Amino acid sequence: MTPIHVVGGGLAGSEAAWQIAQAGVPVVLHEMRPVRMTEAHKSQGLAELVCSNSFRSDDANLNAVGLLHQEMRRLGSLIMASGDRHQVPAGGALAVDRDGFSDAVTAALEAHPLISIDRGEVAGLPPEAWDSVILATGPLTSPALAQAILDLTGETSLAFFDAIAPIVHRESIDMDQAWFQSRYDKAGPGGTGADYINCPLDRDQYEGFIDALIAGEKTSFKEWEANTPYFDGCLPIEVMAERGRETLRHGPMKPVGLTNPHRPEKPYAVVQLRQDNALGTLFNMVGFQTKLKYGAQSAIFRMIPGLQSAEFARLGGLHRNTYLNSPKLLDPTLRLKAQPRLRFAGQITGCEGYVESAAVGLMAGRFAAAERLGHPLRPLPHTTAMGALINHITGGHIETIDEGPRSFQPMNVNFGLFPPLERAPKSPDGKRLRGAEKTRAKKQALTDRARADLADWLGES
Ligand code: FAD
Repeated sequence: MTPIHVVGGGLAGSEAAWQIAQAGVPVVLHEMRPVRMTEAHKSQGLAELVCSNSFRSDDANLNAVGLLHQEMRRLGSLIMASGDRHQVPAGGALAVDRDGFSDAVTAALEAHPLISIDRGEVAGLPPEAWDSVILATGPLTSPALAQAILDLTGETSLAFFDAIAPIVHRESIDMDQAWFQSRYDKAGPGGTGADYINCPLDRDQYEGFIDALIAGEKTSFKEWEANTPYFDGCLPIEVMAERGRETLRHGPMKPVGLTNPHRPEKPYAVVQLRQDNALGTLFNMVGFQTKLKYGAQSAIFRMIPGLQSAEFARLGGLHRNTYLNSPKLLDPTLRLKAQPRLRFAGQITGCEGYVESAAVGLMAGRFAAAERLGHPLRPLPHTTAMGALINHITGGHIETIDEGPRSFQPMNVNFGLFPPLERAPKSPDGKRLRGAEKTRAKKQALTDRARADLADWLGES
């Protein structure tokens, strides 16, 4: 059988290649690293996590990304299986040892008899002889391929900025000032309720820290970058500080649910660090993505009590991200309308996040394999997390797309993408629910509906 070509061995491409091979179709996976690196990747491992090591909440009842995890597991996801095997404690979140995770994905793909891995850049449109291709080259698609895609689609690329948070060596954190605790002592799977390192700031320390952030030297933008917006879920910490002096205290530095065992008074603000590898030797600063210059970062972050002698395994950074105007350009099975032999998957389609990218890769792989095998292409119901995400990418915004090029925004999966419930949930005694109880019941009803519809789609019911 003629192979399907997958370009890009990141989160999406690795998952797509796995799904194709598991369907019995041969696949060639093209990954340019280590021959050519990106600005963010550090290794030659497949499915490398370039920043945080978190797949976010694993709660499949009340959280849309937790539901997405569950759906992917049911569809035999390699990314989820490898993530589960290399989990590190992180409260209610699923966080992974990044090297163990990437090694596991690489080993599984290398060992599969139907997968061959070709290390080299696809530096332009794939050859015509490749009749089925999945392009999963991510936010840092190499310039030659990005230009070829732009020439083909005739679209001006949309762009925004993402930023990376720093990683600190655990042994350099002063535990006479910091302490281990999860917010509200919440213990997630494999966790103890004391999974995060917390560094407390009093009011003066917080005010001094905010002043330093605002004054700190930032990476300067080139002229063409100056008007590129930030993605709101990944704002640099100094941009948050500029938006208001209290913004951080209500965001990543909120002091709630934590008790400092070293001092009786309540902290005014807290910086949390989350375990980054299985050994527990590295911790990342939660929500501290930044575009401060390296020198400024070391100096300013060492103002935080407990981090005065911090040694950084990696400092924060900033990158430009590009994505397609997918609702206009792609069909419901992720094919480029102008050239259907090309499918897209991952962040380049306008989803956001590791898990979402892998989920779109999973579906692109299944669609491509079904097409090769002559099976019908069956999109998932929009009531499932995967279906809602793909609908957002390929069709969810089709009515508004004519309003202008920014009407399609990259998006994490969330309940807002799901079709509304036909009936509002009621209490067991038939009463109308209000407030937090109502929100909780709605989320539960949405996830129950998603599970039932996925079971139908899989022919299980
Ligand atoms: P990637 O995982 O980037 O994979 C694309 C692959 O394609 C890479 O391996 C690359 O080397 C390869 N490639 C590129 N061009 C070519 C070519 N021409 N030929 C062959 N191979 C090629 N998401 C989160 O959930 N949490 C975060 O904290 C987070 N932080 C981020 C920080 C940065 C700096 C960046 C860039 C992204 C971040 N993201 C984060 C988003 C995250 O990268 C994506 O969600 C996810 O990795 C995208 O998966 P992907 O498979 O689409 O792309």
